[in-house]
Parts: sequence; structure tokens; C-alpha cells
Amino acid sequence: MATTVDGDASIPQRRRLVTAVPGPRSRQLEQRRSSAVASGVSSMLPLYVAQASGAVLVDVDGNSLIDLGSGIAVVGVGHAAPRVVEAVETQVRAFTHTCFMVTPYESYVAVCEELNSLTPGSHAKRSALFNSGAEAVENAVKIARHATGRQAVVVFDHAYHGRTNLTMALTAKNMPYKDRFGPFAPEIYRAPMSYPFRDPELMNGEAAAERAIAMIESQVGALNVACVLVEPIQGEGGFVVPAPGFLASLASWCTAHGALFVADEIQTGFARTGDWFACEHEGVVPDLITTAKGIAGGLPLAGVTGRAEIMDSVHAGGLGGTYGGNPVACAAALGSIATMRELDLPGAARRIGAVVGERLAKLKVSSPLVGDSRGRGAMQAIELVRPGTREPDAGAARAVADRCHAEGVVVLTCGTYGNVIRLLPPLVISDGLLAEGLDVLAGAVESHGS
Ligand SMILES: *Cc1c(COP(=O)(O)O)cnc(C)c1O
Repeated sequence: MATTVDGDASIPQRRRLVTAVPGPRSRQLEQRRSSAVASGVSSMLPLYVAQASGAVLVDVDGNSLIDLGSGIAVVGVGHAAPRVVEAVETQVRAFTHTCFMVTPYESYVAVCEELNSLTPGSHAKRSALFNSGAEAVENAVKIARHATGRQAVVVFDHAYHGRTNLTMALTAKNMPYKDRFGPFAPEIYRAPMSYPFRDPELMNGEAAAERAIAMIESQVGALNVACVLVEPIQGEGGFVVPAPGFLASLASWCTAHGALFVADEIQTGFARTGDWFACEHEGVVPDLITTAKGIAGGLPLAGVTGRAEIMDSVHAGGLGGTYGGNPVACAAALGSIATMRELDLPGAARRIGAVVGERLAKLKVSSPLVGDSRGRGAMQAIELVRPGTREPDAGAARAVADRCHAEGVVVLTCGTYGNVIRLLPPLVISDGLLAEGLDVLAGAVESHGS
């Protein structure tokens, strides 16, 4: 291997390219991959990682890249966060698995206690742990149906909730998530989202909620609704920030009609948006909340947290799974949450949001390619359009992302129309590295097409 792997987690926090990206070793591995790995599993940037720390990835060719994606909002605490590494090492030596449903252990309980106290609302709560975001969403739906005795689940345009059978049905976008993977689960109803940039007549969140509620009442029937499931800021769907009042209006409609309001905070949670959870921004208190991505510094873990009487309505044995709340993942989560507290990562996300938000807003003024800039905290995006229109330009987003990658900055694309470039930097990124990453992005946008 060309890179230095010397046991020291802290590799220099700098961008430095020594080959083209991807380099020759990555290209070799990519070839090997093509005859071993199913082609349905694809990679945005086929650069093979050797090591990572903080906000920097080092690839097998020795290139150092600035990571503005955090493995899709997972390593908010940074790659190889010291407390996470330490907790995992200690736990691996102690034991790696017993199955919590067979013989339990303390760290599972401690993670649930943290979830119960960190999530919005001071009511009594309970949590259950799972392996992936999709699994958490599936379980939230199971619990909501069981607790209400109702079946209908309301989701929104542009929603993303996962790739399992039930969560494919909940997800909006056909390609690549759903195409020819049906049939899908029944009793899922899709309501219109509040999407201010694409919905300029409905900039008022209450009015956008009324439009959704009218659809629910006429097409589903209020008394059939088990839950309304929504991402407080949509992730894969394009970093869509609903107009203020949208979430609160939906939540109060749910309360009035005995339906549960379920916030999918899998991408927005754990300090990402400047609060521990994005719902806090508007004082919305969900009945159930799903978490995953940012929870455990990179180890697979997910949770459902909710009102005690709802969570405890399920019979013993009704929830669980072999690996759910694996002890190594729980140790990582405790290390990760401790890091977020110690370093005040919600505060860091707000500072990142101010810097990135201002930079992207400037880019919107200077480049006709940028139709909208939006986000909250360290979850920010630009939506690219054909100049002078709102017509999505996915090709431009792809080209701008490719240019950033070639220059050693990892950015992600997203959006129903594939035309959004999203930034999800590790919350521990230095000001200097963040500014350098933004310079590269701005350069790529401004030079596009010229
Ligand atoms: C990523 C994501 C999921 C699915 O999580 P997986 O761990 O990939 O199953 C669900 N909801 C939201 C909002 C997500 O961003």
C-alpha cells in the first residue's frame, strides 16, 4: 500500500493530490470489483479509501481528499473520532455479540437513555435499536400501526425512507430505487410536500400543510391514518426545506385526529442541522422519531424513539432482530454522542451553516446555473437549473460534482431531478479546510460550460 498506515488515526488535515483521481491503484481495484461485486451496487466516485480521519480521506494511491459528504451524513464526529475508536476497541476486546434478545448488556440501555433524553419533548419515552435506517423506519411503521390499530401511512413527494420493500413503497423516486422492484406494500399514500423553490405560489407552510391535509382527508380519511411520516428536511429528495409552519401544522393535525406524527431524522439528526434534531428548530415534538446515520460515528446502528405508551403498546417479542443494538455499535454511539457534547457539535454545525450558507447564497447571485441555495446548519445545497429557468439541470450537477472530485473534494448529488449538489461536511472540519472545499466547488460552478 502506498499510504502510511502507522496506527496514528490523525492524518494531516489537508488536500493533496499525487495522481489523477481515481488513480491507478483505485482503477485496478475497480476492475477487480467489476467481476466480484454486483453491478446494482454502484459508487459515486470509485476511489478506494485506505484511511480517513477528521475531514480527510486518503486513498490507495496516496491522494488526500477533503470530505464534504461524511459518508452521507454519517461521520458528523469526523472520521476515526478518537472517542469512537477507543470505545470500539475496548468493546471488541470485551465481547462483540450476545444478541440483546438473548442476554442483554448495559450499552444498549445507555444508548436508549441518550436517545430518550436528546430527542425533542420532555414526555416519558422508550427506544428500540436496529441496524439500518430502513429498518428503523419499518419498525416505526409497525409500532404506529400497532398502537393506533390503523393501517394508512402518509408520506410525501420527494421522500426517501430506504430500500427495503416497505421503505421502497415509502420512497418517492422511481429510478434507481424502485424501478421493476415491485410490487410494493399497500396502504401507503403520497401527499404534496412543501418545496418553496418549486412551489412559489405556496411559500406559506400552513397553506402547504392544508393542501396535504385536504388530500389526506379526501383520499385516505383521517380516521384511517396510522401515521404521517416526514423528513423535517428532505435528504435524498434534494435537501428540501419545507416552509416554516408546514411541519407544525401537520403535527397538530395528527394530534387532533389520533394519527401519529413520525419524524424521519435519519439524515437530519445528531447535530447535523445545528440542533440535536431538526424538529427542534420549529418546536415540533414528534410522537415517534427514527435515527440512524449520524448516531454512531460510522458503525451501523439505528433507533426508534417515541412516547412511552406508544412504544410500550407492542407485545413482548414483537420488535427486535439478531444484531439490533450490537454492542460494538452501541459503544461507538456512546463515544460519538459524548464527542458531540464535548465539542458542542450542534454549535459547530451552526457555524458551518453560516459560512456555507453565505458562500452558496453568493454563488446563487454570481452564477445563473444556481437556481436555489438552501439548507440548515451543516446540511446545505445548491439546486442547478438551466439559466433563467427552473428547469432542473442534472448534467450540470454531475459535471460540477465530477470536477470537484477530480480536484480532491468529495461532494454528493441528490434530488428527485438529480440536479442538487449537497454538502454534509464532518462537523469537526477546520475553517481552513471548509473554505478550501468551498473554493473548489465555487470554481467548478463558475467555470461550468466555459
Ligand atoms: C439514509 C436514509 C434512510 C435509510 O437509511 P439506511 O441506513 O440506508 O437504510 C432513511 N431515511 C432517511 C431520511 C435517510 O436519509
